[in-house]
Amino acid sequence: MRIAFGGISIEATNFSPVPSTLDDFIIYRGEALVASDRYPFLKELKAEFVPTLFAQAWPGGAVDAHTYQILKGELLARLTAIGPVDGFYLDLHGAMKVDGMDDAEADLAADIRAIVGSRARIAASMDLHGNVSQTYVASIDLLTAYRTAPHRDALETRHKACRMLVDAIANATETQIACVPIPVLLSGEATRTDMEPGRHLWGALPEIDKIPGVLDASLFVGFAWVDEPRAHAAAVITGTNTAVIQREAQKLAQAYWAARHEFKFGTPVGSIDECIQWALAADEACVFISDSGDNTTAGAVGDIPGCLASLLTHNVPSAVVAGLTDATAVVACVQAGVGATLALRLGGKLDTAHGQPLPVHGKVISLFDGGREQDRQVVFQVANVKVILTERRSAFTQVSDFTQVGIDPLAHKIVVVKLGYLFPDLLRIAPLAYMALTPGAAAQDLARLPYRRIQRPMYPMDSEMAWAAE
Ligand SMILES: [Zn+2]
Repeated sequence: MRIAFGGISIEATNFSPVPSTLDDFIIYRGEALVASDRYPFLKELKAEFVPTLFAQAWPGGAVDAHTYQILKGELLARLTAIGPVDGFYLDLHGAMKVDGMDDAEADLAADIRAIVGSRARIAASMDLHGNVSQTYVASIDLLTAYRTAPHRDALETRHKACRMLVDAIANATETQIACVPIPVLLSGEATRTDMEPGRHLWGALPEIDKIPGVLDASLFVGFAWVDEPRAHAAAVITGTNTAVIQREAQKLAQAYWAARHEFKFGTPVGSIDECIQWALAADEACVFISDSGDNTTAGAVGDIPGCLASLLTHNVPSAVVAGLTDATAVVACVQAGVGATLALRLGGKLDTAHGQPLPVHGKVISLFDGGREQDRQVVFQVANVKVILTERRSAFTQVSDFTQVGIDPLAHKIVVVKLGYLFPDLLRIAPLAYMALTPGAAAQDLARLPYRRIQRPMYPMDSEMAWAAE
């Protein structure tokens, strides 16, 4: 059994003014993909897995069309060169906005299908924040998605997709996918799976898997920061019995719809000034505040200095801003060297709709070179605030992201992160967390985003609408 594999994986928002280009992608080709730590389970599976290309980028603005064509072209060329295969494993995020396209994943899947032929099986794994269309699922045979957000099951989801694919080929199982779109568009922060109603909705999926005729049940939140017709939630069931998978997808879609009013943010939310005041009044020695509008893990730019300005206005006793994208400032600090004091205009150079450069005086505390993935970072002290300046858009999602630049987050009264919800490693250590409803490309107030092309009516934009799954 020969199975080719690869994919293009990015969460991309067209509300960001900064496009994602070839330079933003880390690309694994051929054997380098096998050698990566992404698929440790392949050797356990009874098939020959043949790598093509896997390209992954940090969440960002829409992928420019030329970049997409280059990446897809190389993936398809490598697939063609492999020759006949029994299957293809497609490794995706699922929310790839490509400039000028409405459904990049459907385009990619269709082109892969055209090469492998109608008899080969295609299985895909996705993030539950991906956007799924009928056109896309028509090109593939098997689909599974994460069941946790914050994500803890990425590896096992990829493993499950490959296992289902091997089994379907080995047993010549005829599979189908039922996809029921749900006219609900909510943020990942409002739909966590570790609190209700997400906990019971996603917690029920393993039970659906056990129903005869079903192979996998997946529930997609979708990705809200993109203006495409496929941006909405979806219930997607893969299986062998058409009537059963359609019925279960409808039931799952209806359950999500019924719970729509119950979704809430997992942490208290307020303006940045409110969050700072609450943090200063809190007994906890350290409080995390998410700068949610400029959340780089949802594709925002990461250069809005608004929270830094507020921390300075409040004259906080100690704080960290992690981080602030500003390549110019990083270069200036590197040239000045550790210990130098200098005047800088921080941030506000890319997302000019939501921020403007903040003039500050400060001192270079430390320099760090994160290599190809993170580029250079600088800890720059302004009054009582340590600002981690980053050359490339990045996110501080785990403790090691802080310690590698010499910062112990828990030693500071306030830690501002450009995230929405805290990722598991920070959730584990944070004594207390608030989410600031700040402006930016990933603003949480979805009803105020400039959508023109999503389907309507859509909850919560059309809050009084009626709907039934069919
Ligand atoms: Zn996600």
